[in-house]
Amino acid sequence: MLKHIFVAATLWLSLATASGERGSPLSLSVEETRPPLSNQASLSEELQLVVSSFIATEPEEKALAHQFQNRISNLSVTLDALSSASNVTGSPQKAVVACIISSYLFPGAAITQEPEYTQEREAHWSQTCWLPAACFIRPKNTLEVAATMKVITHLGVRFAVRGGGHNANSGFASVGDNGVLIDMQDLNRLEVQGGADGNLITGPGNRWSRVYEYLSTNYGRAVVGGRTGEVGVPGFLLGGGMFFFPNMHGLGADNVVNFKCVLANSTVVNANQTSHTELFKSLKGGAANFAIVTEFTLRTYPIRDVWYAIDFYANADYKAVLNATIQTQLAMEKDPRIGFHANVQPGGILVGKVYASVDGQAVNPSSFAAFDGIKPMTVLVPPTNGTLADIASSLGPIVAVRREPHVVSYELSLDLYTDVYERYRSILNSSSAPSANLSYTIQPMGSAAVAAGKMQGGNIMGIPQVPQSWHASLVEWSSLDDDQAAHDMLQTYGADVKSLAEARNVYLPYQFMNDASYTQNPLETYTAENLAIMQDVSSAYDPAGIFQRLQNGGFLLRNVRRRTPARSVHHKRFLHHKRH
Ligand SMILES: Cc1cc2nc3c(=O)[nH]c(=O)nc-3n(C[C@H](O)[C@H](O)[C@H](O)COP(=O)(O)OP(=O)(O)OC[C@H]3O[C@@H](n4cnc5c(N)ncnc54)[C@H](O)[C@@H]3O)c2cc1C
Repeated sequence: MLKHIFVAATLWLSLATASGERGSPLSLSVEETRPPLSNQASLSEELQLVVSSFIATEPEEKALAHQFQNRISNLSVTLDALSSASNVTGSPQKAVVACIISSYLFPGAAITQEPEYTQEREAHWSQTCWLPAACFIRPKNTLEVAATMKVITHLGVRFAVRGGGHNANSGFASVGDNGVLIDMQDLNRLEVQGGADGNLITGPGNRWSRVYEYLSTNYGRAVVGGRTGEVGVPGFLLGGGMFFFPNMHGLGADNVVNFKCVLANSTVVNANQTSHTELFKSLKGGAANFAIVTEFTLRTYPIRDVWYAIDFYANADYKAVLNATIQTQLAMEKDPRIGFHANVQPGGILVGKVYASVDGQAVNPSSFAAFDGIKPMTVLVPPTNGTLADIASSLGPIVAVRREPHVVSYELSLDLYTDVYERYRSILNSSSAPSANLSYTIQPMGSAAVAAGKMQGGNIMGIPQVPQSWHASLVEWSSLDDDQAAHDMLQTYGADVKSLAEARNVYLPYQFMNDASYTQNPLETYTAENLAIMQDVSSAYDPAGIFQRLQNGGFLLRNVRRRTPARSVHHKRFLHHKRH
């Protein structure tokens, strides 16, 4: 007994030193070993199981698995001593132990030293997400993700997963000192399979600019991806994924044909239309509830060349611009090659007009006819023939500020557009956050997009099939002093948009996850049947509730207050399906 206390005390002191000195390497000499506290398998045994159940499909993977197996054997005494000692420590110390174990398992993968530590901490679009972590772990392949997950679950450590870091909700892809952040950036495979018009396999470490560039240059094709190149592949796809031309082939999630993923128990599965079908469906818009995705396979399309222009209109012309916006949205229902959004800012209204030139065809001159006769204050981008890769990269450098998003859906109504614009102006005028800037974007989502998405296999989001707008509001501010006032301004404005839409009888409860605030609950706005599927998939694939209990944040099922009546009916069907 005394021996055990001595080991634990030594470890405690070492960990306290390691976690207290940011910038010094985490190192620990394990002087004695002790048996696991319970009769559960030891960490090294569990890791060996992860490797032996890993199905390596390529020679490289086989070699990796073999190497990894040897490393675990050589380190088993150390790994088990560390994990046993962590049983007597608190949660910040457990996280540090996870970091130490990871640095033994994958040398160089656990980042605790400067300058990389700060680069990792600040690798988010919004400063509100610049949280510390006990360490940032950068796995290089699926097996390392599976092993990292095993360390996390064995120790019971808080964690978060980050792709492109563009979700502005604090704590979703960021974690804090008492947890570890799994940064997926090194899983950046890009490969087209099945011929020149085949599907694209992309790792979650990629951003859309790299994906578009690769496909455009090598194949003259594109996938249904983000409109801004810096956005990460995984968060975009798991949250639905609004493309430039949603009416062509639906949303990003509709176009995923396979998710390779690591489950809570570290097994690796491929979820697609014939295997793990309910998991497949749930991942198409169901967020980070079920697995860590290590590869997405996406349909590709012959879209490369686009025509585009960006105009900035005066506030004085808002009625004409809003009217033209609705007209263009209606035109989009008939012509899926039209891409469009209107971004309302304090200084004016920025309108992005895009047209997919399939087969080299130039812009349809009538596509944006509704804007003829409204003279822009500034032509930000004159009519340009370029590629998707060009336009996705056309956004200027990212400015580091604090940010918070919010979303409301409604059907098309010029009266509502006008009400909302006028409310926006009055909220701006009464702002008590001097450093804050409020803006909103009208994002068209067509009934044609819902139909096109269904043709590709659909998703879990249950989007109503009507022409609608996703009203994405954003507050950005620079001073910490304005945190509360900026948040309040956004929330007040968001609530006002909702009540104005209700008053005009065009409000839609559906919330688009990729633009939603942490104060919202998009999963609750999915259909009862789809929510039931997700709840059942979560129970079946993650019975210990790892993604719900240990994951730091996100649009998680644990926050859903509604257990749907459809659940029991669906559950029986699901269990039947799993058994047969
Ligand atoms: C400038 C800008 C432009 C945007 N444009 C668009 C657009 O055109 N269309 C659109 O739909 N959205 C758009 N968005 C919203 C964006 O899609 C979401 O914020 C999305 O969550 C970002 O994905 P990410 O990988 O960059 O984010 P992250 O912040 O890294 O992750 C977002 C969420 O996904 C989880 N996650 C990350 N990787 C994985 C993984 N491998 N497995 C499981 N879970 C994972 C994280 O834990 C987190 O909960 C835009 C956002 C910004 C800031």
